[in-house]
Amino acid sequence: MEYYSSQISKLMEELASLPGIGSKSAQRLAFHILNMPVEQAQGLSSAIIEARKNVRYCSMCYTLTDEELCPICRNGYRNHKMIMVVEDTRDLAAYEKTNKYDGVYHVLHGAISPMLGIGPNDIKLKELMQRLQGEVEEVIIATNSSLEGETTAMYISKLIKPTGIKVSRIASGVPVGGDLEYIDEMTLLRALEGRTEL
Ligand code: ZN
Repeated sequence: MEYYSSQISKLMEELASLPGIGSKSAQRLAFHILNMPVEQAQGLSSAIIEARKNVRYCSMCYTLTDEELCPICRNGYRNHKMIMVVEDTRDLAAYEKTNKYDGVYHVLHGAISPMLGIGPNDIKLKELMQRLQGEVEEVIIATNSSLEGETTAMYISKLIKPTGIKVSRIASGVPVGGDLEYIDEMTLLRALEGRTEL
């Protein structure tokens, strides 16, 4: 990229460091940005900075939010006695898109993986168990159907069983190893409706 001046090269380099952005896309995006009105470029860069600085975990469900409680946990119309456990915030978004789930969530931020050295203490599991001290009727485990997701589901159900709270697992209509966020809404709905008690 020596034929570009250093600032253009720097912009391309930064863009190319993002997931899914190869050098061609980085070049295309860089020229797009360079053609923007300055105010628009300013808006883009401050959106990145503000989100990065202010986004944190919801103190209840641990999804990403920029407030103490996320909009779902704050919503009095949601069923707070039903908690769906997901691996990350993108999975939560996938279920929200179906518009059919009115319970709340708990975001683990990962899954148990002995191979990668990720244990129960490395995900937000303690936090889930603390929430179950309150009034909860059902926990729906919606971790991915990968080995890690299944291991995590099994582990959680064993932990919850003694509390007498109903534990269920979404149906296996979800392709093995498929990330929840890439699955269409109908499949997610069927998986949710066909959940079985563990
Ligand atoms: Zn929340």
